[in-house]
Amino acid sequence: MIKRNVLLNPGPATTTDTVKMAQVVPDICPREKEFAGLMKGLRADLLKVVHAPADQYTSVLFCGSGTINIDVCINSLVPEGKKILVVNNGAYNTRAVEVCQMYHIPHIDLKFSVYEQPDLAQVEQTLRENPDVAVVYCCHHETGTGILNPIREIGALAHQHGAIFVTDTTASLGMIPLDVVKDNVDFCMASAQKGLMAMSGLSFIIGKTDIIKASKNYPTRSYYCNLYLQYEYFEKTGEMHFTPPVQTIYATIQALKEYFEEGEEAKFARHRAVYEAIHEGLDKLGLETAIDRNIESGLVVSVKYPDNPNWSFEKVHDYCYERGFTIYPGKISTTNTFRLCALGKIYPQDIEDFFVVFKEALEKYGIPVRQ
Ligand SMILES: *Cc1c(COP(=O)(O)O)cnc(C)c1O
Repeated sequence: MIKRNVLLNPGPATTTDTVKMAQVVPDICPREKEFAGLMKGLRADLLKVVHAPADQYTSVLFCGSGTINIDVCINSLVPEGKKILVVNNGAYNTRAVEVCQMYHIPHIDLKFSVYEQPDLAQVEQTLRENPDVAVVYCCHHETGTGILNPIREIGALAHQHGAIFVTDTTASLGMIPLDVVKDNVDFCMASAQKGLMAMSGLSFIIGKTDIIKASKNYPTRSYYCNLYLQYEYFEKTGEMHFTPPVQTIYATIQALKEYFEEGEEAKFARHRAVYEAIHEGLDKLGLETAIDRNIESGLVVSVKYPDNPNWSFEKVHDYCYERGFTIYPGKISTTNTFRLCALGKIYPQDIEDFFVVFKEALEKYGIPVRQ
């Protein structure tokens, strides 16, 4: 028996014991054919999660946290003399802008309020005025606020203007149904420890094979993080170019098995029920949230700090943490918030149990709550 913690942070998420135990395997050299075979199945299963036709899309694995995908896509997919347009309404899109800056890649940082979805008319106007935009980039579920962005519409605009569409689906893939063809997605990305409920250390990009092949001739801006190089190595050998995260790969294979057993729609409904339970608990206590519910992803809730001098995030966090519940700081610079998230293998009952503990903490530290 492994102690079960309820993680209400936006990943890594609460996992099953079977996923944890899948990592305990006989030692193996990852250059063995047996291991390449495992990765082949894993890459094929990842395509199925996002309904990507195998004759058009491929998946490429990397060893690293989710940010490696942002780095790889941006440094690898912008052709010579072209620009990338980042549709930016939050912290994770800002991270993409920072990657552009680090690699000195020509880019447009099209900024919107972090409290709202991007304005499609402005996206379109920017594309019309900048015919040299070859890549449009936008995060699907902006984890910093919990906003779900209209990627299908943004992808359609990109395609109308001859650009490819890259979306950061790290905080939605495997939780909110995604169909890369219908959603106009050329490249999406995630890592194993979020929606798939596996362990950290494995990240993956799912994208159009012909575009990856064309990118062979694009400027190379990184050695370790080049998409074409990693793809080519997989195609030639079935292996990662460099040492893979062996144990995480075993855990991810088990997690995918459990993902397909639970089913896309049932899993989506379970996350949704957890999210509803979070809002219900907050409403009962009279706590306010920062984002309009109509544009929330249903996975992350940004909660405003109670307006009381006794409030201390650290103290309340520690009280909950000692009792098996992890709450997480906010990421909105203009409002003081903390976050409660619905990722992982958790249920509405876990949220009810959490609110008993959370209410105890508020009472203990003298923060009045609605009874
Ligand atoms: C978690 C997350 C990432 C990756 O963060 P890492 O700390 O590198 O794993 C990227 N984008 C989004 C939207 C995320 O939620």
